[in-house]
Amino acid sequence: MKPKKVALIAHDSRKQAMVEWAGHNKNILSRQHLSATGTTGTLISREVGLEITCYKSGPLGGDQQIGAKISEGEIDFLIFFWDPLAAQPHDVDVKALLRLAVYYDIPVACNRATADHLITSRLLEKIGETEEGE
Ligand code: PGA
Repeated sequence: MKPKKVALIAHDSRKQAMVEWAGHNKNILSRQHLSATGTTGTLISREVGLEITCYKSGPLGGDQQIGAKISEGEIDFLIFFWDPLAAQPHDVDVKALLRLAVYYDIPVACNRATADHLITSRLLEKIGETEEGE
């Protein structure tokens, strides 16, 4: 399977869940091209040992950087464990990122159950491929 371009983001209260999920799926994730917002990426790379391209921290522009990559067709799917119980200082960036993910029809998992479905989906192979089939 061609490596997929996967973006990973977790709000602070969800970072531990993200680290556990990434650790559980280390084998498959290690064969993809991973990117993440700054703190999330640094944490996963340190705790799980995965190679990750880190953008700026989410509140400092990282969400917008990943949104821009989505608009350029550079992200195949997004795992975004956002905090359902707290407002974020960068709520507008979060909304903008999710808006672009929907607009560009990028699969997005916002919790572990969906992330598990996505990473094990038989459709994973087809994500990010052109209609002609790459
Ligand atoms: P962080 O950003 O990984 O730098 O903490 C996540 C976010 O809040 O969007």
